[in-house]
Amino acid sequence: MSRRAPDPDHPAPRPVQVDGLCDAARTFLSQPSGRLLGAQAAVLAAIRATQGRPDRVDTAIVAGVVLWWPLQEWLAHRFILHAPPRRVLGRTIDPEVARMHRAHHADPWHNTGLPMSFLVPAVPVHAAVWVALTRNRRRALTGMLAFGTTTLAYEWTHFLTHTSHRPKRSYFRTLQRRHRLHHFKDEHHWLGFTVPYVDDLFRTAPDPSTIATSPTVRTLGVEDESLEAVPAGA
Ligand SMILES: [Zn+2]
Ligand SMILES: [Zn+2]
Repeated sequence: MSRRAPDPDHPAPRPVQVDGLCDAARTFLSQPSGRLLGAQAAVLAAIRATQGRPDRVDTAIVAGVVLWWPLQEWLAHRFILHAPPRRVLGRTIDPEVARMHRAHHADPWHNTGLPMSFLVPAVPVHAAVWVALTRNRRRALTGMLAFGTTTLAYEWTHFLTHTSHRPKRSYFRTLQRRHRLHHFKDEHHWLGFTVPYVDDLFRTAPDPSTIATSPTVRTLGVEDESLEAVPAGA
């Protein structure tokens, strides 16, 4: 498959080519975010396995994560990843996750991974939140494993969605089609991801034939990366 460095001035015209899921997995795990999230899930699973069988509370924790994750995806995509740079007290507030997401919209076949500057500090913060929430090592490990695995599943699916892989199952074909509409039709819609039907809940899944292609779908309204935000529709 292609492993050339992305050129933001000349976005690749087609998806990164992969020769089956094994080839895709190899490339995914060669990326820093894939390696970190894969290693984290493996380590947490190994430690959690030493803490006894899951009980009803563990099951409830996993269910809570599974229910929360798709809502969080939509909310984070809408309000963090698409947040324009802002000037606050003379300083520009523009988190790297938002800058990287704009780079991903500018060159949709690349820049799919979450930045390490976000993931590395998130690991201890994530652990601390679960310890504070549960005040129990075993429960905290269950939560960390559930959330870490869900994050890994998101990262892998997002990577795969931007390759030449053609999903066989209709669920994943819907996921891929809707995410590509977000990238190529209108960035204000189809903000969900692993559970694409969340967009039906938030009314952000219109019939694509009823809306025009957004002129800011590649820029998110930030025309100048010296970071002056252009209001949507301007
Ligand atoms: Zn994407
Ligand atoms: Zn987006």
